[in-house]
Amino acid sequence: MPSKQNIAIIGGGWAGLAAAVELCKHGHKVTLFESAPHLGGRARSIEWNGMALDNGQHLMIGAYQKMLECLKTIDADVTKLFKQLPHRMLMMDAQTGNTAFDLQLPTYPAPLHLLFGVLNTPSLSIKEKLLLLLRFNRLLNTEIKTDISVSEWLSQAKLPVSYCKNLLEPVCLAALTTHPHQASAKAFQNVLQQTFNAPANFTDLLIPTTDLGRVFPALAKEYILKQGGEIRTRSKVQQLQSEGSRIKSILINNETMSFDQIILATPPVASAKLLHKQPGCEKLNAQISRLEYEPVSTLYLHFERPVPLPYPMLGVINGISEWVFERTLSGHNDVLAVVFSAQGKHLKMPVDELVETVYNELGNIIENLPELLHSQLITEKRATFQCHPDIDKDRPNINTGLNNLKLCGDYVYIEENNQPGLPSTLEGALRSGVKCAQLLLSNLN
Ligand SMILES: Cc1cc2nc3c(=O)[nH]c(=O)nc-3n(C[C@H](O)[C@H](O)[C@H](O)COP(=O)(O)OP(=O)(O)OC[C@H]3O[C@@H](n4cnc5c(N)ncnc54)[C@H](O)[C@@H]3O)c2cc1C
Repeated sequence: MPSKQNIAIIGGGWAGLAAAVELCKHGHKVTLFESAPHLGGRARSIEWNGMALDNGQHLMIGAYQKMLECLKTIDADVTKLFKQLPHRMLMMDAQTGNTAFDLQLPTYPAPLHLLFGVLNTPSLSIKEKLLLLLRFNRLLNTEIKTDISVSEWLSQAKLPVSYCKNLLEPVCLAALTTHPHQASAKAFQNVLQQTFNAPANFTDLLIPTTDLGRVFPALAKEYILKQGGEIRTRSKVQQLQSEGSRIKSILINNETMSFDQIILATPPVASAKLLHKQPGCEKLNAQISRLEYEPVSTLYLHFERPVPLPYPMLGVINGISEWVFERTLSGHNDVLAVVFSAQGKHLKMPVDELVETVYNELGNIIENLPELLHSQLITEKRATFQCHPDIDKDRPNINTGLNNLKLCGDYVYIEENNQPGLPSTLEGALRSGVKCAQLLLSNLN
């Protein structure tokens, strides 16, 4: 084993925490600096009306294998943290309240689950079902040589219109936080492949039974501290001070500290500030400056009594609402979270008008919708990077021009052989954190 290194991790989001866990597991001394008072970054808990909720509703699925692996490392009981539900895409029409699409995948081994799921879809004719199976399989498995938009890709595939409009396009917007006409076909194909060309349980929904901060950040913190690591919140790293091709020290709350190795796990804009004018970082600074961002808004609605949904997650089409989530499993059966991804009309509406429109849409879908007690809109302006065609060219790698400085975070490109990267997701953040730590360890060897 290499000599014990003193390692600083800057940023306590899911990527930084995953890197810290991996390094602690290998016996290194880790100090994690987080500028905010809490850990979790873009996936953290908040308190609203005495309830522990999330800064934004998140969706996790069985394909999040690195997340499950990280949770095992820190001895978390995954069966208690999540309720695992077979995949169902129930899409409702906001105006008529009718079901627009209902794809339920049975618990058969892949790809039989998709085959039987599609064959049982009520809104398609037999001809459409067979066409869909054939063409979706081709779509999934034909290499995209030159990246194009998802809209173009889907229109070339000649899938049934209702399948694209009512299912694949809303899924693209949710998975890539980018509208289909702007989104990368390669990135979307990669997400679909990792979900469908995989064991059947990869399509399952993982519904947290608690708030996000308690799914990973709090447990990771406990593990890091137990392994002798240190976590400093309210500690903003102000500057990286380099000498030659190394970072000599870092400036935190006006205190200078030195470390053998440093991992920068901050979001891209914060990374760019710290890397500005650092020697050897010109290319990665240029890449970061080309990234564009998309917002995600979550509207929490607190009702006077419980509001059970037919499935814990509903898709909504033909309206302003996009996805509606029940919060029953995390302890609040009278709260719904309505999610809006990327730019859209919702951002231009006064909040009262948005709440009224969403309430009316839900009233069309859910019978006897109770009175609303309170509502809260949370918008994260830079929730994700925009996942446009050829996005991976604008994503920096783990290695920087400085010997003892590495990068991790959902925006960092970690694949090999030009394989497409994941969009901005928790799974992407965790994979990058673990991979960055492993690369650091292998360099030490
Ligand atoms: C509203 C919303 C909804 C989302 N929905 C989903 C979803 O459904 N499914 C999914 O998989 N993903 C979703 N995502 C994306 C997911 O949350 C992110 O990809 C992931 O959290 C990014 O983690 P990270 O560690 O890379 O970055 P961050 O979470 O941004 O962590 C970086 C940390 O660095 C800290 N920091 C910044 N500057 C400094 C400094 N100078 N010194 C010290 N610390 C600093 C920040 O405070 C932050 O805690 C969503 C994101 C948002 C915002």
